[in-house]
Amino acid sequence: MVGLVRGRGHGAKTRALAPPTPSSPAGSASESESDSGSEARESSAGPLGGPSVDTLEPGDLEDATLVSSIERPESATGRLQRLRARLARSNTALGKGLLALLSSGGLDEQSWDDVEETLLSSDLGVEATMELVDSLRTRVKVEGARDEETVRRWLRQDLLRLVDPLMDRSIASSRVEGRPAVVMVVGVNGTGKTTTVGKLARVLVAEDKDVVLGAADTFRAAAADQLQTWGERVGVPTIRSERGGADPAAVAFDAVRAAVEMEADVVVIDTAGRLHNKVGLMDELAKVKRVVEKQSPIDEVLLVLDATTGQNGLRQAEVFAEVVNVTGIVLTKLDGTAKGGIVVAVQRKLGVPVKLVGLGEGPDDLAPFDPEAFVDALIS
Ligand code: GDP
Ligand code: GDP
Ligand code: MG
Repeated sequence: MVGLVRGRGHGAKTRALAPPTPSSPAGSASESESDSGSEARESSAGPLGGPSVDTLEPGDLEDATLVSSIERPESATGRLQRLRARLARSNTALGKGLLALLSSGGLDEQSWDDVEETLLSSDLGVEATMELVDSLRTRVKVEGARDEETVRRWLRQDLLRLVDPLMDRSIASSRVEGRPAVVMVVGVNGTGKTTTVGKLARVLVAEDKDVVLGAADTFRAAAADQLQTWGERVGVPTIRSERGGADPAAVAFDAVRAAVEMEADVVVIDTAGRLHNKVGLMDELAKVKRVVEKQSPIDEVLLVLDATTGQNGLRQAEVFAEVVNVTGIVLTKLDGTAKGGIVVAVQRKLGVPVKLVGLGEGPDDLAPFDPEAFVDALIS
């Protein structure tokens, strides 16, 4: 029932090999050259400069196709710096607005109300907003001077304290006690789970980790296809079911087992997030967790939240936290929202750090969350 799609050079047995995905680069041979199917295949192997299809065994062709289509993902270091402009652009309301307000002439009650409103509209949350405004008011009173540079420094310090640079934001991705690290990714439909698993696989591959993906969103076969395509691009195997509606717990179980057999560093399990039946979804997740734990402890549960959904996202977070032990948050779509304050709000709500942020739909638009770079982007 569950098939294994081969990726890099591990020793595990191949039980099923999926056909090349339509969107894989190897499948995009120019049509003008292909009078017949075999020539089309040949031209797909062409860029490699390898031997023609005729001289290859079927197994060799698989390898050649895989090698030719494997991308080299960008390393994670400095990604947030590269994406900083994107973050700053969507959060000008917070940064520029605050700087302008605070460094303008006399700060009357109305101005403080405006500061408060700006912070609230960034989804910082009432509590954190009050703390920040109190701190700023005290500084203005005590220190007086308010040129833009001074204000920027105050804001930087206060925001950084709220974001909490001391939280551990590392992601379990190395073998633990002789077994692969197990990472589960949960969240509501459409938040960006599958995309995040795909992007995370790239981050890990760039760090030379041996990664296995588990497609435990079995609701539609297309969900597994989507994940598998991400995996194939960087040569990472995906454990999946070939049909929709299979037991997600069984797929997750098999993914962990395959990772153990392959002696992988880490297995990342994508899950379903349909919301039309909350109880059903939570039961399913609890079962996936329970079944995986028969075999291995779960080292990391990443909750994916769409930053544009504000309070709604916070409520989702609470529901998930009741069922699984969330160890980190991934905030996606921060590129499309002025609501960067949600980072602070969700960390406070769950007492769990934001570990990764999604800043676009591109394959390398996922960055480790770096509090300093984040705050700098907000007030740059
Ligand atoms: P229950 O349905 O709540 O009783 O949970 P179980 O622990 O019995 O597991 C339910 C499902 O998880 C099973 O039907 C299997 O699909 C899957 N599962 C549990 N244990 C294993 C196992 O050892 N191997 C595999 N492949 N799947 C398992
Ligand atoms: P899932 O249902 O939770 O698995 O969500 P998907 O991974 O399928 O993503 C849903 C949509 O959100 C897709 O169109 C993604 O390209 C998009 N998406 C995911 N992350 C980001 C992000 O960080 N920024 C933007 N702009 N779009 C994103
Ligand atoms: Mg998905």
